Amino acid sequence: MFVPVNEPLLNGNEKKYLIECIDTGWISSDGPFIKKFEDNLSHYFGRKYAIAVSNGTVAIDIAIDALDLQEGDEVIMPTFTIISCITGILRKRCIPVFVDQDSETWNMDVSQIESKITPRTKAIMVVHIYGLPVDMNPVLDIAKKYNLKVIEDAAEMHGQEYNGKKCGSFGDISTVSFYPNKHITTGEGGMIFTDDDKLAERCRSLRNLCFIPEQRFIHHELGYNARMSNLQAAVGLAQLERIEQSILKKRQIGHFYQYKLKDIDTIHLPVAEAEYAKNIYWVFGIVLKNANLSQTQSLMAELNKRGIGTRPFFWCLHEQPVLKKFGITVTDSFPVAENLSRCGFYIPSGLAITEEQMEYVVNNLTQILVK
Ligand SMILES: *Cc1c(COP(=O)(O)O)cnc(C)c1O
Repeated sequence: MFVPVNEPLLNGNEKKYLIECIDTGWISSDGPFIKKFEDNLSHYFGRKYAIAVSNGTVAIDIAIDALDLQEGDEVIMPTFTIISCITGILRKRCIPVFVDQDSETWNMDVSQIESKITPRTKAIMVVHIYGLPVDMNPVLDIAKKYNLKVIEDAAEMHGQEYNGKKCGSFGDISTVSFYPNKHITTGEGGMIFTDDDKLAERCRSLRNLCFIPEQRFIHHELGYNARMSNLQAAVGLAQLERIEQSILKKRQIGHFYQYKLKDIDTIHLPVAEAEYAKNIYWVFGIVLKNANLSQTQSLMAELNKRGIGTRPFFWCLHEQPVLKKFGITVTDSFPVAENLSRCGFYIPSGLAITEEQMEYVVNNLTQILVK
């Protein structure tokens, strides 16, 4: 048996809508599924505007670009996240100011934010990690107090709520990804959300090379070609129709693993429930107690040998070699995030996983870890 770390589920109207694209010839970003997908998603997330783009990374890049940050401006953000969160910040010659994670929730430790604010701070980026939202109220209070923009990366959170309000609805600008391991996939794809008319217009322009309506092929600014195709939107629309079932399935997978792995005392499991949210288990992470990187890697190698796919946790941004090229040196310490990145990995939990596959994962993990 081989259990892949992720396998998407495409068993709704995906095929039907794709055939419609082919039959009608609408395959580019001009097709009718784009607007439909944007409208349905903005409604679902409770936002005024949704702007479809070609992936979740460029969604963040454009969000950063749209905020008009200047060289030297500081953005407070978690160190424990994917490189996608920082590419736009570095290219704008802005300065990332990192905060450590919370050892229980694995999310950014919001109690550290205020102490990192300087006169150059312009924004806070929050990234909801692995299925539990960031504790948003303190973040929103600080942002208001210091007049900072909030950028919200909700790539892993479609359908998750914080105190009953959708993740992806908290940022001045928020983004999601539709990579195949997300709750909604379009193969590759992303979306930008905002309620601000000007920001929305700017994102739309940046997405499409900053063409101007008055005279095509004249450009006052540089944009991106980050357009989503009608084919992608067709798949996304079908995926959105099934979002509630997908969330239910994700939570079932999470509960199964929580229950079956609860007695292994050498590992930390994800927080099942915080006062503000129930975990949606985008992935099911495991953190080895009192371990190091090589022990974690050998456990993952052993699981792989037994036909079980895993992925390591994110590697901290403050430790990324590429920072040096942008002249960024980081002196603060981030013990929790460093430990997560060295001792954490996630086990198979894609939407297409079967109970038999999950049993196989649990049995092997138990065999290896319980001596
Ligand atoms: C998946 C992901 C992204 C990037 O999305 P892509 O579509 O792969 O570019 C960004 N941020 C987080 C937290 C993610 O999990």
